[in-house]
Amino acid sequence: MEFRDLKKQYLSLKQEMDKAILDSVASGQYILGSDVQELEQLLADYVGGKHCVACANGTDALILSVMTLSIGEGDAVFAPDFTYFATINSAMLRGASPVLVDIDKRTFNICPDALEVAIQRTISEGKYRPRAIITVDLFGLCADYPQIEEIARKYKLYLIEDAAQGFGGAIEGKRACAYGDIAITSFFPAKPLGCYGDGGAIFTNNDDYARKLRSLRAQGRSPLDKYDNVDLGLNSRLDTLQAAILKVKLKAFADYELQAVNQAAERYTAGLKEHVITPYIPAGYLSSWAQYTIMLRDAAQRSALKAHLESKGIPTMIYYPKGMHQQSAVIDRGYHTGHFPHTEHAVQTCLSLPMHPYLKPEEQAYIINEIITFLGA
Ligand SMILES: *Cc1c(COP(=O)(O)O)cnc(C)c1O
Repeated sequence: MEFRDLKKQYLSLKQEMDKAILDSVASGQYILGSDVQELEQLLADYVGGKHCVACANGTDALILSVMTLSIGEGDAVFAPDFTYFATINSAMLRGASPVLVDIDKRTFNICPDALEVAIQRTISEGKYRPRAIITVDLFGLCADYPQIEEIARKYKLYLIEDAAQGFGGAIEGKRACAYGDIAITSFFPAKPLGCYGDGGAIFTNNDDYARKLRSLRAQGRSPLDKYDNVDLGLNSRLDTLQAAILKVKLKAFADYELQAVNQAAERYTAGLKEHVITPYIPAGYLSSWAQYTIMLRDAAQRSALKAHLESKGIPTMIYYPKGMHQQSAVIDRGYHTGHFPHTEHAVQTCLSLPMHPYLKPEEQAYIINEIITFLGA
C-alpha cells in the first residue's frame, strides 16, 4: 500500500498522459510557451480568478508574492505556527519578521482570534510594522477567510493565501487560490494537483501585481523590452512538459478526483469517528484532502499506533512533528513552549493516513480495522 499512490493515477490516465508527454516533447518548446499560457488560463478559470502566473515551485510562488508586495526588512508577517516551513521561509528570506500564531484546534488552521491578539501585540510593541498575513489551507481545508479577510481589512494588512495544499478546496463554492491579494499553490507531486516534478502558480485579481509577478519570475525584465531589466527577480519558470501533464491532471481532478477523494474521506470518518478525533470540516467548506489527519490521545499512543500500522504494511506520516517556533532557524526569536498550546498538542498527536483519489474501499476497511483493533487492545 502507498501513502499517496501516484503510480495508480498515472496508470489510470496512461493513454492520454503518454500522448500529452510525447506531443509536448515533439513540439520543440520546453520552457513556458503556449501550453503554459493555456494552463494558466485553465487554472485561473478553475479557481475563479483573473490572473494566474505559473512558476517553478510553491516556494518560489511565495517568494515572488512577498517581493511583489514589497514586504521585507522591518515588516511583521503573521503566519500559523503549524505549517510547512516554506510558508515563513519566503518572508524571512526577504528580511521580514515572522509573527507566529496558534491554530484553531479543530481545523488546524490559523486561529482568527489569536491572529488579532498577535496583531495588536505587535502594534503596541512597535518593533515591527504589521504588513501581511500569510494563511495556510492546511491538509486541503481553506482557512477561515470570512473572518481573516475582515481582520486584514481592519488592520490594512496584505493577505497572501498559501494554498500549496489547498487547491480544489472551497468555502460556499468560492475556491481556494481566490482569496487574499495574492494566492499561491504548488504542483509538487504529492499535492492535491501535482505534476511530475516541481511546479507552482500564483493567482491574483490585481493587474499590476500580475504584471510585476511576470517580470519578477524572469529576472525582473521589462514587459516591453526583454533585455531591459527594471527589477531584481528570480528565474522561476514552469516547464512546458509539466504544463502538458498538468492539463491532463487538472481535467481528471475537476471531473472526478476531487469527488473521489471526498468519498474516501467520508469512508474514513464513518469508520473512525467513534475511536479517534477525525478531521473537522466546518459547514459550507469543501476540503481537497491533501492529508487525512487523525489525532490520538498522546505522543505515546501515536507512536505505538504508527508502529502497529507499519507492521501491517500501512504507511503513515507525521505532519508535522514540530511547530515553526520549534525550528532551529526561528528558535532565537523569543518564542517559548506554551505559547502555542494547540500547535504543541497537534505536533504530539497528529497522524496522517494513506489518502488519494484511487484509494479503494477495501483498503480503507483494512486500515480502519487495524486502527480499531489496536485501540481496543
Ligand atoms: C508544499 C508546500 C509549500 C511549498 O511548495 P513547493 O512546491 O514544495 O516549493 C509551501 N507551503 C505549504 C503549506 C506546503 O505544503
